[in-house]
Amino acid sequence: MVKIGHLINGELREDAKRVHDIFNPATGEVIRQTGLASRETVEEAIGAAADAFPGWRATTPLKRARIMFRFRELLAENIDTLAAMAGEEHGKILHDARGEVLRGIENVEYACYAPELLKGEHSRNVGTAIDSWSEFQPLGVVAGITPFNFPAMVPLWMYPLAIACGNCFVLKPSERDPSVPLFIAQLLHQAGLPKGVMNVVNGDKEAVDTLLLDKRVQAVSFVGSTAIAEHVYQTATGSGKRCQALGGAKNHAIVMPDADLESAVSVLVGAAFGSSGERCMALAVAVVVGDEVGDRLVSRMKKRMETLKVGAYDNDQNDFGPVITRQHMEKVNGYISSAQEHGAVIEVDGRNPHIAGYENGFFVGGTLIDRVTSEMVCYKEEIFGPVLLVMRVENMQQALELINTHEYGNGSCIFTRDGEVAHYFSDHVKTGMVGINVPLPVPVAFHSFGGWKRSLFGDLAAYGPDGVRFYTRRKTITQRWPSAGVREGAQFSFPS
Ligand code: NAD
Repeated sequence: MVKIGHLINGELREDAKRVHDIFNPATGEVIRQTGLASRETVEEAIGAAADAFPGWRATTPLKRARIMFRFRELLAENIDTLAAMAGEEHGKILHDARGEVLRGIENVEYACYAPELLKGEHSRNVGTAIDSWSEFQPLGVVAGITPFNFPAMVPLWMYPLAIACGNCFVLKPSERDPSVPLFIAQLLHQAGLPKGVMNVVNGDKEAVDTLLLDKRVQAVSFVGSTAIAEHVYQTATGSGKRCQALGGAKNHAIVMPDADLESAVSVLVGAAFGSSGERCMALAVAVVVGDEVGDRLVSRMKKRMETLKVGAYDNDQNDFGPVITRQHMEKVNGYISSAQEHGAVIEVDGRNPHIAGYENGFFVGGTLIDRVTSEMVCYKEEIFGPVLLVMRVENMQQALELINTHEYGNGSCIFTRDGEVAHYFSDHVKTGMVGINVPLPVPVAFHSFGGWKRSLFGDLAAYGPDGVRFYTRRKTITQRWPSAGVREGAQFSFPS
């Protein structure tokens, strides 16, 4: 059985005393294994990054950016290979996987701006003949810990920018689909990155905790579930590190009575069921204003869902694939059963679908649950499956109240034709990313990505301008060159 190793100091390495099975979720078969790095292996990766740092820090931003340019080209050339790798281990359909890689490439393009992004701020004559400027210096060794659901894009949110800013990186991707991040890191070396600047260790809690506690690691970017995000944030900051930890989500879409229902239905279907709902920005709840609109929405959704195609990643005709593991499939089915037991109405039941030729796959079909209430577990928790809940309220304020009192605050959106309503909503909603007639408002690479409440621990969001601030430290320098012969005496009052 092939074992996926680690990339340390530019070399592929094995440390597979402990392993984790990798499945093809469409067939349910184990296709390879991930070697789970020991503490010593992770420490070696941190050491390689620490050794590479002085040279990389001294490399000009323009030279770093040129490597990113070549990296960008290699990613674009390998997009089909990457999509197939992601599809096989994650289950997402090729068209969806290609989209993920493209969104990842956007972040590399942003990192190509490094010389511009690191320009700093300058003020002349802050005092007589005194100039002052702020510059943004790299932190040193930075770690990234990423989830299974975007094996290409989420790591690309982190290290291209961190590296372009002059840091050295250790990535710990998800042990469930590690081939894509490892392959991409090899492309970065092909693009000319010096050894040790970027390292990948595959692993589990042992690897993560080593990264969180090692004093050489200056900052940690994490993306994953809220429980682990909180653990990572507390441990990393407790050990004196800067940390941004992005967690789970429950994204609501408000459907107003004046919305273009036909287009709302089509985008809701894509945003709720695309990638089997395993996206942190997936729409999980449709909050419909008015019972009559609710009835119309549910009936149109049911009709549209009859045409959903669920299957394996390598058929581009499929809309979405399986969920990641058998255990996760059972968890999603459990949420559907619990909704039913608590009085919700299962309008479309995706439990145990028959997918010809893939009887052992981890499939859940598109599921639509109506008459959900805020006390139900299926509403309170993140399901992370192809399940759309429908809730009915009487007015926009009630819809807003639901969103604002939910534990999570990643994304939300509203479907309406009324600009005033849309403006009020975007102004008052307590989520970090908002869509107006846009179902998945994932910010482009030159903005930043981050939720509110328990969807993000830390002050700075991922990538974009916040990413530059996260991966650099401000230093402000004040300078005067006294003219020959002019000497000031000692001053004891505060300089002003
Ligand atoms: P996860 O929390 O299980 O794993 C994320 C990472 O943490 C992995 O690398 C994993 O190996 C590591 N990990 C798992 N258990 C750990 C432990 N006990 N101690 C230390 N490290 C541990 O998440 P997942 O199932 O891979 O991904 C799905 C979750 O990620 C969902 O909750 C989803 O909403 C969230 N997510 C959030 C965003 C965002 O931007 N907010 C983006 C993508 C995914």
